[in-house]
Amino acid sequence: MSTSRKVLVSGAGGFIGHHLVSDLKAQGHWVRGVDLKHPEYAATEADEFSLLDLREIECCLRATRGIDTVFALAADMGGMGFISQNHSQIFYNNALINLHTLEAARRNGVERYLFSSSACIYPEFLQQDADVRPLREEDAYPAQPQDAYGWEKLMSERVALHYRDEHAIDMRIARFHNIYGPLGTWEGGREKAPAALCRKIAAAKATGNTEVEIWGDGEQTRSFCYIDDCVEGLRRLMDSNRSDPINLGQDRMVSINELADIIAAVAGVSIVKKHVAGPTGVRGRNSDNTLLREVLNWEPAISLEDGLARTYAWIESQAGKKTARTAD
Ligand code: NAD
Repeated sequence: MSTSRKVLVSGAGGFIGHHLVSDLKAQGHWVRGVDLKHPEYAATEADEFSLLDLREIECCLRATRGIDTVFALAADMGGMGFISQNHSQIFYNNALINLHTLEAARRNGVERYLFSSSACIYPEFLQQDADVRPLREEDAYPAQPQDAYGWEKLMSERVALHYRDEHAIDMRIARFHNIYGPLGTWEGGREKAPAALCRKIAAAKATGNTEVEIWGDGEQTRSFCYIDDCVEGLRRLMDSNRSDPINLGQDRMVSINELADIIAAVAGVSIVKKHVAGPTGVRGRNSDNTLLREVLNWEPAISLEDGLARTYAWIESQAGKKTARTAD
């Protein structure tokens, strides 16, 4: 997006949306942010920020009015604890958000649209071993996502492709693989594994109780992508001409036990892992970045150690501030 555009970021009160707004402003674009809530941890840099419920078509029409580029990031989502227990709510809310945002974009003549999909669209039967083969874009079909969250994302990918084909909207579809970093949810039940582990390890450091709970045996594997890489990938994807889905993530796979060890090393504490029953998702998942490298001439570069050091420092300071507030 070399020339200045009028951009809508939906979900701009959330983690990725908030960071993306800052990046778009730094590039010189005019930005409207929309969400149910303001960003929790830092003020938005958007030129305009509206509190709107994007399940309503009227709100989507207001959000997309006068806009030429949409980054559709709004979703009712969270980590495994949330998405494994709220299937109907997630399907209902996210399907309405995505159907209405796309239709409103069409009616308002939006030229370019990015839909934020997820690695959760990939079939469960390809993700049954911890030592899994990395997932290629074409692995999505035959489809069998594990949860309603993934099924809805896959459905909305298809809706987006029909709008591209029938209404000439220039489409982009990014399948995110576990994005993490500062200014993301770190407590309350919607946090994902990196943030939850940073919080638990910060508590272990603060209290001296070195026991840290891990859901399952901790041998389930994932790849994790730092937020700055995600935002750069979004910028490059928008500038590319790739209109079919593409993975956006790291391809270094680690187990949850290894993730905890890296965070403990960053925090400078030794921990005792206590494996407890809990939702663990698929057994193994990794991103095949062959297409990403080809299409974007780039791939995420920030190491897990660097990204977790920045994330841990932020979560430790948030937890410290919270403790100080409750002690007042
Ligand atoms: P997030 O929860 O921090 O942000 C999503 C935002 O959408 C929230 O601020 C929420 O309030 C808003 N929202 C929910 N319902 C809404 C509604 N009815 N109207 C308006 N806004 C509404 O999540 P995130 O991590 O920033 O994720 C952004 C997008 O990327 C989502 O679509 C998510 O599904 C997708 N994604 C994220 C990851 C990840 O690892 N973070 C992985 C795969 C896909």
